[in-house]
Amino acid sequence: MTESLLIKNVQVNSPADGIFMQGDILIKNGLVAAVGENLSDDSANIIDGTGLTALPGLVDIHVHLRDPGFTYKEDIITGCQSAAAGGVTAVCCMPNTKPATDSPEVIKYILEKAQNAAARVHPVASISKGLCGEEMTDFAALKAAGAVGLSDDGRPVENGRMMLDALVKGNENGLKVVSHCEDLAIINGGIMNEGEYSRQLGVKGMDRASEDSVTAREIALAAASGTPVHICHVSTKGSVELIRDAKRRGVHVTGETAPHYLFFTDEKLLSRDALRYRMNPPLRTAEDREALIEALMDGTIDAIATDHAPHSVEEKQNFEEAPNGVVGLETSFSACYTKLVLERGMSLEHLVMLMSVNPAKIMNIQGGSIAVGKPADIALMDLNCVWKVDPEKFHSKGRNTPFDGSSLAAKPVMTLLEGKVVYKDNERNWGENK
Ligand SMILES: [Zn+2]
Ligand SMILES: [Zn+2]
Repeated sequence: MTESLLIKNVQVNSPADGIFMQGDILIKNGLVAAVGENLSDDSANIIDGTGLTALPGLVDIHVHLRDPGFTYKEDIITGCQSAAAGGVTAVCCMPNTKPATDSPEVIKYILEKAQNAAARVHPVASISKGLCGEEMTDFAALKAAGAVGLSDDGRPVENGRMMLDALVKGNENGLKVVSHCEDLAIINGGIMNEGEYSRQLGVKGMDRASEDSVTAREIALAAASGTPVHICHVSTKGSVELIRDAKRRGVHVTGETAPHYLFFTDEKLLSRDALRYRMNPPLRTAEDREALIEALMDGTIDAIATDHAPHSVEEKQNFEEAPNGVVGLETSFSACYTKLVLERGMSLEHLVMLMSVNPAKIMNIQGGSIAVGKPADIALMDLNCVWKVDPEKFHSKGRNTPFDGSSLAAKPVMTLLEGKVVYKDNERNWGENK
């Protein structure tokens, strides 16, 4: 039996397909069957899309699902529910799990558990076994098992020779290398951005050069080998300038940044609140924040990813000792819409490129399109509402968000994964559905 769903009277914005219209989307057997005006299908369930905007499901290529090993922080099922609640239909999950995602067995575990999850999960495998930076993993076997990329995220690859080999062998195996740029010797135990506020607090800082020097190295290695590299969570003006220059020179480099870097600066750390404000890379200065926004506006940075990093409230209590990271899946679209579209005048189309089309392209995964015949991965957004972030309502197990209590514009209200409703905002009045 054919299962049909008809979304009526919705504003459709899908830049990869050149679709910008008010109309209907017909979905059959999980695929987009038609996008147009006055569509009808007698057997279809109807969703009234009046006042809503349909986007291709968001693609978040930097997420920590914490599974296997740290399921008290998050697991594959809750992480994907959190994604769905944020309009995200595909995630790339990072390999710093326990055991690390360094073998086909762990990839298999992740993909099996993700089969019935509320988002599509694409594992990023580790470059080195156990993320120890010593012995490289078997890229061909990891690719065959379903990995889409390579990274030691959570840690840098300290040895430049190993990174160069990873870029070349990753490229041969069709696996994008994504780099966490950090020089641990410069960090030397620092816990926040090095500057005025770290000095005021009397705590060890993380100099911006710790990030920039490794960004520069990755660009040099990509240029030398003629292979692509993706720079994770860009947080500094220096890294932005390095990427901008490299792109001008034709180096195959792409970059992502995260919503929290567009809002907050290291001044927030004066609160000594690790739960909300400690992550790595750390919140930087107003100058860095402005450079990141400009880099998104001018195309220097290609993608927005959350670096969703859930931790328990307990382990985040001690300011100095707390692990790094904040959650982001359920606030990313609203935060970026508020900051970039409403405050800075970015087009919605451009934001969809940054949050769906480009990330799918960078990792070579499904997404970014609602063309006929494609899987119906669709996010319905209410762009006209303003809501207050309440972490207690998160689907994630994590409550560690800098957006706690923030008023944000635009809200994901329904998410479809292959035509199946995987999230519905029950606080919204949906009227009488057939
Ligand atoms: Zn990282
Ligand atoms: Zn990360």
